[in-house]
Amino acid sequence: MYERLLMDFVCVCHNCRKTIEREFLYCPWCGKENAEVADNVVLDNVFSQLEEKQANDRNSRIKRIESKIIEIEKGLDELELGVRN
Ligand SMILES: [Zn+2]
Repeated sequence: MYERLLMDFVCVCHNCRKTIEREFLYCPWCGKENAEVADNVVLDNVFSQLEEKQANDRNSRIKRIESKIIEIEKGLDELELGVRN
């Protein structure tokens, strides 16, 4: 996954939470020392939240499709009834 690849190159600043390159000793945004090891936990949270959001997006898309299908089926039922009557 793209995010997982990205993780190899960047981490999140412990101080300002901005994304910085893993190699940086100091955060270019706030100047704070790059506490990369401690940030692994934060990053894990960020990415699991991302994954959760993506899963939710997928679920709501599926729900939308399902309700469309139900609409279509209703329409077909009415058509069928119309033909019989
Ligand atoms: Zn920072």
